[in-house]
Amino acid sequence: QRLRIGVLFGGRSGEHEVSIQSAKSLMQALDPSRYEILPIGISKTGEWVFGLQAFAALQTSVPDYLANSYQASNWGDCAMSLAQLQSLVDVVFPVLHGSFGEDGTIQGMLEMLNIPYVGAGVLASAVGMDKLFMKRIFGVAGLPQCAYCSVMRQEFESDENAVISSIEREIGFPCFVKPANLGSSVGISKAKNREQLKQALETAAQYDRKLIVEEGLNVREVEVAVLGNDSPLASVPGEIVPSSEFYDYEAKYMSGSSELMIPANLPEDQSKQLQMLAIQAFQAIDGSGLARVDFFIEKETNRILINEINTMPGFTIYSMYPKLWEATGVPYIELVGRLISLALERFADKQ
Ligand code: ADP
Ligand code: MG
Ligand code: MG
Repeated sequence: QRLRIGVLFGGRSGEHEVSIQSAKSLMQALDPSRYEILPIGISKTGEWVFGLQAFAALQTSVPDYLANSYQASNWGDCAMSLAQLQSLVDVVFPVLHGSFGEDGTIQGMLEMLNIPYVGAGVLASAVGMDKLFMKRIFGVAGLPQCAYCSVMRQEFESDENAVISSIEREIGFPCFVKPANLGSSVGISKAKNREQLKQALETAAQYDRKLIVEEGLNVREVEVAVLGNDSPLASVPGEIVPSSEFYDYEAKYMSGSSELMIPANLPEDQSKQLQMLAIQAFQAIDGSGLARVDFFIEKETNRILINEINTMPGFTIYSMYPKLWEATGVPYIELVGRLISLALERFADKQ
């Protein structure tokens, strides 16, 4: 009896395309003799499409490995409803990044349907998506992070000058302005003076009602992959060498010239410390399954600061998360198997 895996991909967020690529890598890695795949696509406007039709709906081609094995499966191209999902899959792998996917909403739906799923639960997903609450939780856990403050769009719109002056006093320049609830660097800008700060706040305010401002540091960017439930393991750290001034959307997905250094060239004790902090961060948000924990190492001081945690990191074979595990001795195919086992284990623990 093969395990039936629902692979949820696409989604309503800005990371729709990345999700499709992650899902294709994942589905290719699922051994057809052990797993039966049900592709479930979510379009940019939020429609759900099941089976091979999902690929057409998301304007992407059906991968060969799936087209060939699909004939044998009993999914057919049947129309089905969400409510039927529970009887049709054993576990769901929500390979969705960003809002309506990585933020606890899908996780809550799957909890209601009583379907085991890969990765973080509702709380960890929600905390990991909201940069303000994430920072508050990290603060409570005693994790080192850069100076920051939060601004509501409403506050900014009602008194621009007061908000700008207070940021100038509290944070100074350069600073980074971010929407609290996005990923992939969308809406993020670096401001070096008052004028740019005003512009940066206006940009971020287009994406969210809640904004974060952080001191801008001169940093190396280092990431650690975490895998597990109650006894999580940390991978070797990897470093990103961005092709532009910071790791913006362009550098992440377009230019392809940002380099990954795996493992990162770091002293042994600093690697150890990063791994320890990554696990602390994972546990601070009550993570499960997987997460990628992103750090800054300040160039002048060599100080480690936590930047963020991502509960459904990019999952293509070229992405940092799987590559970190590969370098740590867990190849992609084994990684996928372990994540599915962790999902089932977590579900059983709750019963
Ligand atoms: P996202 O969740 O969209 O990835 P991040 O908070 O990781 O957002 O910010 C995106 C990028 O912006 C980082 O990878 C880094 O290159 C740069 N950056 C963000 N905050 C700072 C900061 N405080 N100092 C220096 N660079 C930063
Ligand atoms: Mg992020
Ligand atoms: Mg980031």
